[in-house]
Amino acid sequence: MNKCSRRNIFKLAGAGSLALLLPAVALKTTQTAWAQAPENALNPESPQAKALGYHEHYSDVDQSVWTRFKDGQICGNCQLAQGDVSADWMGCGIFPGKQVAREGWCNAWVARQG
Ligand code: SF4
Repeated sequence: MNKCSRRNIFKLAGAGSLALLLPAVALKTTQTAWAQAPENALNPESPQAKALGYHEHYSDVDQSVWTRFKDGQICGNCQLAQGDVSADWMGCGIFPGKQVAREGWCNAWVARQG
């Protein structure tokens, strides 16, 4: 085996290690995001949330389905949001006892006054 082919073997081994590592990093990131959600976070899959098209992130809203959605509308600037609207999670008058994501959205969005 010459020097060049040995180098190629090390390169392949390194690439293989990286390929094994990437899913673990992605899983860790997902777990961290989920861990940050409060225990009483509104489940987007619940019937009430689905009926109003609630999404935890506005970028997931399908504008062809939810035609009231306009860029810039988020829970954090909705009149119905309750509590600290600069926090990642907050209350909502439409979903009592639940927390909604600041960058979330639903079809009941109303521009916040003041
Ligand atoms: S009513 Fe407003 S604060 Fe509540 S989920 Fe809908 S957009 Fe968010």
